[in-house]
Amino acid sequence: MANQEETNQEIKDQFPKSIENSGNILVVDDNPQNLRLLIAILSRHGYKVRPAPSGEIALKSAFSTLPELILLDIMMPEMDGYEVCQKLKDNELTKSIPVIFISAIDAIQDKVKAFEMGAVDYITKPFQAEEILARVNTHISLSRTQKMLEEEIKLRIVSEKALKTISLKYQNMAMQDYLTGVSNRRYFMKRAEEELSRAVRYNHPITFLMMDIDHFKNINDTYGHQAGDQILKNVATICMDAFRVNDLFGRIGGEEFAALLPETTFDDAKIVAERVRQNVEDFSLKTEGKQLACTISIGISSLTDKNYQTLDLLMKQADDALYLAKSSGRNCIR
Ligand code: GH3
Ligand code: MG
Ligand code: MG
Repeated sequence: MANQEETNQEIKDQFPKSIENSGNILVVDDNPQNLRLLIAILSRHGYKVRPAPSGEIALKSAFSTLPELILLDIMMPEMDGYEVCQKLKDNELTKSIPVIFISAIDAIQDKVKAFEMGAVDYITKPFQAEEILARVNTHISLSRTQKMLEEEIKLRIVSEKALKTISLKYQNMAMQDYLTGVSNRRYFMKRAEEELSRAVRYNHPITFLMMDIDHFKNINDTYGHQAGDQILKNVATICMDAFRVNDLFGRIGGEEFAALLPETTFDDAKIVAERVRQNVEDFSLKTEGKQLACTISIGISSLTDKNYQTLDLLMKQADDALYLAKSSGRNCIR
């Protein structure tokens, strides 16, 4: 007896409680003697152990409280260890619980089959306490490390997604006008340079529209800045609806909007511009209460093959045309 205790102490010293709050282990064996022995070895080393004398009871016990590891006998009546393992591996909840088979069968095919079923280890009976403890320790550590890594990966994926969303938001903020949500001046100009140089290179038509709300200062002064802001949003929406997806449109000043229409001749652009002007006027006529009513004037300039035009020049010509529209009564296109 004293000898047995000495051996136990030796084992204890060899396997200090390296695993904190030693997780609960489910021990499955139909042989009560084996079950008792395994439980004695493990609980002596600080593990919480749950016995299961059959496959059915093992499954019930595993699903009711997930164990950290399962020691599983292979040869059992009714449901053998392979079947128990299969059922555990087929279930999302239990599939990652490490299973160590313990069996008297020492045939290589059975060991291979055990690993194929998803077992992490295989111990042959008769077993040594040291071997049981060493393998249990190792697999609990491994499984905890794996879980930690999986958690870390999940966290990283979440934070990467959040970062992407934020950076997308900032990218959009850098391109958008804060009030109307359409392109801001900087982004419009950048895209306009690209579109214009394409049109020049391939000698394709392209047309610039400069749009300005009429007497906007009066509107602000009469109905307030908030009403003015709402008008800016309405005009932006009406314009966006009138242009094609390939057209560029942006707010380039306080109450000034610009559009660049690729593959569009001067005559075609006049039709678009007239539609925009009419839509703004119609919207205003429909608007109850005067504070959201307004009209716009539009200046148009096109790239012609006679002159090699820069964006500055094209804009200047549209601006001149706009000035003409203003001086000839507003709410018109020139
Ligand atoms: P015109 O018909 O000749 O264009 O006259 P206008 O009053 O529209 O032109 P002006 O350039 O004199 O006035 C522009 C006004 O636009 C003045 C400014 O306070 C207003 N404005 C500029 N940005 C904003 C804005 O973001 N919100 C509002 N509510 N008003 C703005
Ligand atoms: Mg104006
Ligand atoms: Mg203006």
